[in-house]
Amino acid sequence: MIHTDFLIIGSGIAGLSYAIKVAEDAPHHDILVVTKNDLNESNTKYAQGGIAVVTDYSKDSAQQHIKDTLIAGDGICDQEVVEMVVNEGPERLKELISWGAQFDRNSDGGFSLENEGGHTKHRVVHHKDMTGREIMRALRATAIQMSNIKILSFHTAIDLLTSKSKSSSCHGAVILDNLKGEIKHIIAKNTILASGGAGQVYTFTTNPDIATGDGIAMAKRAGAKIEEMEFIQFHPTALYYPDKKPVFLISEAVRGFGAILRNKEGEAFMYRYDERKELASRDIVARAIHSELKKNNSSHVYLDCTHLDNEKFKHHFPSIHEKCMTIGINPAINMIPVAPAAHYVCGGIKVNKDGLSSISNLYAIGECSRTGLHGANRLASNSLLEAVVYAHRTYQHTMLTVNDSNKQEIQFDLPNYEVVKLNNEFIQSLQRQLQEIMSHSVGIVRTTKGLTKAQEEITTLEQKFNNQVNLKFTSTELITIRNLFTIAHLIIKHSLDRKINKGGYYNVDIS
Ligand SMILES: Cc1cc2nc3c(=O)[nH]c(=O)nc-3n(C[C@H](O)[C@H](O)[C@H](O)COP(=O)(O)OP(=O)(O)OC[C@H]3O[C@@H](n4cnc5c(N)ncnc54)[C@H](O)[C@@H]3O)c2cc1C
Repeated sequence: MIHTDFLIIGSGIAGLSYAIKVAEDAPHHDILVVTKNDLNESNTKYAQGGIAVVTDYSKDSAQQHIKDTLIAGDGICDQEVVEMVVNEGPERLKELISWGAQFDRNSDGGFSLENEGGHTKHRVVHHKDMTGREIMRALRATAIQMSNIKILSFHTAIDLLTSKSKSSSCHGAVILDNLKGEIKHIIAKNTILASGGAGQVYTFTTNPDIATGDGIAMAKRAGAKIEEMEFIQFHPTALYYPDKKPVFLISEAVRGFGAILRNKEGEAFMYRYDERKELASRDIVARAIHSELKKNNSSHVYLDCTHLDNEKFKHHFPSIHEKCMTIGINPAINMIPVAPAAHYVCGGIKVNKDGLSSISNLYAIGECSRTGLHGANRLASNSLLEAVVYAHRTYQHTMLTVNDSNKQEIQFDLPNYEVVKLNNEFIQSLQRQLQEIMSHSVGIVRTTKGLTKAQEEITTLEQKFNNQVNLKFTSTELITIRNLFTIAHLIIKHSLDRKINKGGYYNVDIS
């Protein structure tokens, strides 16, 4: 059993920024970060486009960023939250820079700003097309130097330790040491879920293997409120290169740079769907591509960059250029095959403006949370922003309350698990089937019948699993499949509950 003041589950931008802030402010407090892979592996590492922050007030304003966010969210963002996040963004960007993150600059010293779908101004601060990698480099380097941050890599959180004696409260988590196969009980005054997204519930996703919705599933089992899971954002332009996982993203900034979407016939089709054409918000572009694919019975459309200045393209998007070249596509000559892929969970663990969930002492920050910022469709590059703003707000709140009496240790039964090695093929086959059902019936365009059928099919799969595997058994694969079942059920249930189409949610049977 390990005792700590702050247990942070996840080491992406949300988890590490929070850890650094607490460590800087309170050297006498213990901070423990557990992360299920190496410290670097996260959705954050793959972020390309950048972080949306107003920095050039001569051409842009907070008001305009707020308006763009509200429009993308299709009427169901929490306006107060949107205003708060946009207004606090510039300070948080300064902090990332103070921790060593470097962002591209123009010759006059100002930030080089990109444009992306749904933004009416160039406001995306970036590091070439590798913004997430650069942010992770800086956060990692800062965190590992801090003596009061302890990091347990290759440790997977299985479940939260909660007490329901008075009102529900969280007191830590049960963790599996992946390499040694040992169970650890971590007792914490504050537990912060920073466990990221859930793209792995679909077959075709930009998210790496770690994105299995663990934090949301654990919070659900603990009784926390989970909201708006029906709003899964599909990125319109993932590189169509079957069998490569996770699929490589062709950043929205490429469309901001002037690339044109073309269908199988070579037609630039976006004008038929939205007057903003390629720069409409993601939900609209993804649905337009989906419709073209159905009409032409094809697997992908094309992103045409052949008319763009190739030298500038290479300079702005070195990793995208290199990736295309390695698979024999020269963006100066060949159009890039692309298709929509599951990318981001707009919903998640419901939190207030301090990052606090509906369970005392349990916080959620970053992609696993539902703050109200994104509404029905996240505006591009707003999620890194949300993560740093909520890491800060949660840090402030937990520092104020760390010594409250309800955070003192209480007695409760510790769950028992037996670490086992099971037939991996069986679990992998269940996971594949689950992903196929979700991709087929719970994708960009849904139907009520399809959702109901998917619910039945997933329930049957889960029963098959439960008939074979004892509830007390655990392993990294078992943790993953159990969480994926929970996430799939949440997405389907919330979809069936939704009676009006909004943003990223579209059911042909309702209007
Ligand atoms: C390809 C790609 C490009 C993107 N581009 C952009 C962009 O340009 N701008 C933007 O704003 N957003 C972008 N996004 C979205 C953004 O990157 C993520 O939403 C954001 O990085 C999430 O940060 P996070 O800290 O919440 O989670 P993550 O960065 O995903 O970190 C989650 C952490 O939790 C750990 N973890 C998960 N489960 C467990 C468990 N059970 N036990 C222990 N540890 C666990 C993981 O190992 C990981 O360390 C992109 C996403 C992808 C995939």
